[in-house]
Amino acid sequence: MKAYDVTAIRKDFPILDRKVNGKPLIYLDNTASTQTPRAVVDDISHLYYTQKANVHRGVHCLSQEATAAMESSREHVRRFLGADSVDEIIFTRGTTESINLVASSYGQLLETGDEVILTEMEHHSNIVPWQLLQQRKGIVIKVVPVDDSGVLDLDAYRALFSERTRLVSVTQVSNVLGTVNPVAEMAEYAHSRGALVCVDGAQAIAHMPVDVKALGVDFYAFSSHKMYGPTGIGILYGRRELLNAMPPYQGGGEMIGHVSFSGTTWAELPYKFEAGTPDYIGAAALAQAIDYIEGIGFDAIAAHEHALLKHATEAMSAIDGLRIYGTAPGKSAVISFLISNAHHYDTGILLDQLGIAVRTGHHCAQPLMERFGIEGTVRASFAIYNTLEEVDKFIEALRRVAAMLA
Ligand SMILES: *Cc1c(COP(=O)(O)O)cnc(C)c1O
Repeated sequence: MKAYDVTAIRKDFPILDRKVNGKPLIYLDNTASTQTPRAVVDDISHLYYTQKANVHRGVHCLSQEATAAMESSREHVRRFLGADSVDEIIFTRGTTESINLVASSYGQLLETGDEVILTEMEHHSNIVPWQLLQQRKGIVIKVVPVDDSGVLDLDAYRALFSERTRLVSVTQVSNVLGTVNPVAEMAEYAHSRGALVCVDGAQAIAHMPVDVKALGVDFYAFSSHKMYGPTGIGILYGRRELLNAMPPYQGGGEMIGHVSFSGTTWAELPYKFEAGTPDYIGAAALAQAIDYIEGIGFDAIAAHEHALLKHATEAMSAIDGLRIYGTAPGKSAVISFLISNAHHYDTGILLDQLGIAVRTGHHCAQPLMERFGIEGTVRASFAIYNTLEEVDKFIEALRRVAAMLA
């Protein structure tokens, strides 16, 4: 493995040169959104300047080029995920829309009393779509508990299954605790009980290799903006036979076979689930983000991010009154914490004054906050371009903030 050249990587992200409140930006809010490298932004402007035309409908050259760019990206995503077919790769607006698609469409096949299993650590976007389905269909939602270190209780998970369990929807990596859930093991058990598995991959996709077949999952959702790609685009992977059996999610152009007032037929996969003009430029540029990640390689990414995590965790543990939430073995590079009785918001504001961007609040995971008896945390999360020097500055800033708020 060649040496990890973080200086070279940082040069690809012009935003990292800017100042915030007169201080060099230290961006530690990667769990909310990652920054975008020049190659991706250049691709987007190139497409706008040279190739912009609506996809699929046109016979003219520009439309055909735009269609080819989007479809070639779909093939990129298929390969990246290890899926069997491009029919299984649906472009959506992101993780949220992907999960809503599954809950709405697959949900239509469920009946009153059917059960869906979620976990206590889910993001709201993997809770609320199922609650909407609960209101429409009278399904029952069951929840896997999390222990004090942030690990799912797998005995409790297995005990939640019944004759009526139809689907498990679980996050691969917690956006708050950093816990990496044993999704393959959970999927194997779910399948042995006749249930399907949907995975929220928003926090996994940029940090570890994902192979949907090795994981053995039925649906997999993620967002491009959390993997160095453009905003407004994301993916739903679904097994072809399931997608084929599911009704359309939205109606409109592109998703139809033939429309008439006496009855309309649907398009083949994947278009059945892509009503309306997609963000075809975002979809095309997602391929560049995948290339960028693969150019560095997941082994190198994981080693770098874990070194940052280890260094930060050790130094933070030595700060008086600082408590870390989420200490699961093998966790991802996300650190949620609180300093003594200081409000998470005050900590966030003071760090921002020092140029350090962290997230504060409930992180769209209010049930998890309730589980830990808190309203929110401060969260620092690391990515490919963060450095050990940035971690040191962050720690120094935390010590100052802790002293001020003590
Ligand atoms: C960010 C995030 C989501 C939602 O992603 P969107 O891009 O806002 O749709 C869902 N789940 C997890 C774990 C996340 O981190």
